[in-house]
Amino acid sequence: MTDSTQAMSRRAALTRGATLLAAIAVTVVGVQPAFAEATPAAGAKKKKGKAAKDDFYFQDTPDDSGKSCKGCINFTPKSSGLFGADSGDCALLEGDVCVHCYCQGWTDKRDAGAKRAGT
Ligand code: SF4
Repeated sequence: MTDSTQAMSRRAALTRGATLLAAIAVTVVGVQPAFAEATPAAGAKKKKGKAAKDDFYFQDTPDDSGKSCKGCINFTPKSSGLFGADSGDCALLEGDVCVHCYCQGWTDKRDAGAKRAGT
């Protein structure tokens, strides 16, 4: 290999290296906004969602002792929904629940009322 051939090779290698660095820089700059959108801003709180019914062993019948959503502090009745006029919303679970449904999150609304009253 002659000196001029070696010089051309070095020049070509440097040019390729510079091109590669420029491509990496463009890629990093291009990816950064997408990453920033996927990452919550510092100090931002994650939005809390409701749990899946399966996670709380939800059933559309009362438990063996007769406990049901109707007596649960987490239940809010509504006039229509998946269970017709018996439908309601649950503070813990996603989707419709019903007055005769039950899950492991059941909390006696009478006890909650008593605790609030300080008894
Ligand atoms: S926590 Fe369970 S029992 Fe209570 S309202 Fe929700 S689904 Fe019904």
